[in-house]
Amino acid sequence: MSLLETHNLTAHYGDFQALFGVDITLEEAETVAIIGANGAGKTTLMRSIAGVLRNAAEAVTYDGRPVGAQPADEIMAQGVAMVPEGRKLFPSLSVEENLLIGTYGRKKSGHWTLNTVYDLFPILRERRNSPGTALSGGQQQMVAIGRALMSNPRVLLCDEISLGLAPVVIKDIYAAVPAIKAAGASLVVVEQDIAQAMAVADRVYCMMEGRITLSGTPESLSREAIHDAYFGAA
Ligand code: ATP
Repeated sequence: MSLLETHNLTAHYGDFQALFGVDITLEEAETVAIIGANGAGKTTLMRSIAGVLRNAAEAVTYDGRPVGAQPADEIMAQGVAMVPEGRKLFPSLSVEENLLIGTYGRKKSGHWTLNTVYDLFPILRERRNSPGTALSGGQQQMVAIGRALMSNPRVLLCDEISLGLAPVVIKDIYAAVPAIKAAGASLVVVEQDIAQAMAVADRVYCMMEGRITLSGTPESLSREAIHDAYFGAA
């Protein structure tokens, strides 16, 4: 049994079907990357797992139990946290207040506290009283990750954490992944940058038009296979 599984997961926005029978698994201590072009359905998959989009009750199981029909805050309390695309900080609140919001609904203690998040991203300790709006994009992304960690998740869902950031900043942010794993989380990382996904992931899923078109370990996937799964075979 995997830590997290989706079974024949579908998702709709009104009449528009965005996911068609998606099956993915995440094992304990694993990092899985989801790659795919704009509109492939990556965000929809993350939002379905996190309960932000409602699913068929049996479509998502976590720790052996179906969670697909539960509200997002209940899923989070059970240990599944999401770093949403676009960071979604509260702009008028300080760094520290934004981080503390991550403890809302928390039922278990663990490695992650304000102090350990500040150790992970020391710049946030310096800027703890600054409002969200005063931060650079990379710093905002660190707050978004820290906020999710504050719930001490077993599964961390990261949606395009490198979007719009400079390469040097992306490197800083991905440098946090080993510490996050060491503290006991498994990760699902949505990433448009294929090389970055290959570097961080134990396994990769490629999506196109709402379906998984390819999966495997980074070493097992050829450039050609990824290209076809990402863009469609010519
Ligand atoms: P991106 O990299 O652009 O975020 P993505 O792979 O995450 O792409 P999704 O955001 O999941 O893709 O979108 C999948 C499909 O669902 C797209 O065709 C998109 O236009 C559509 N879609 C997403 N959100 C909505 C919505 N709120 N209402 C209607 N259609 C939506």
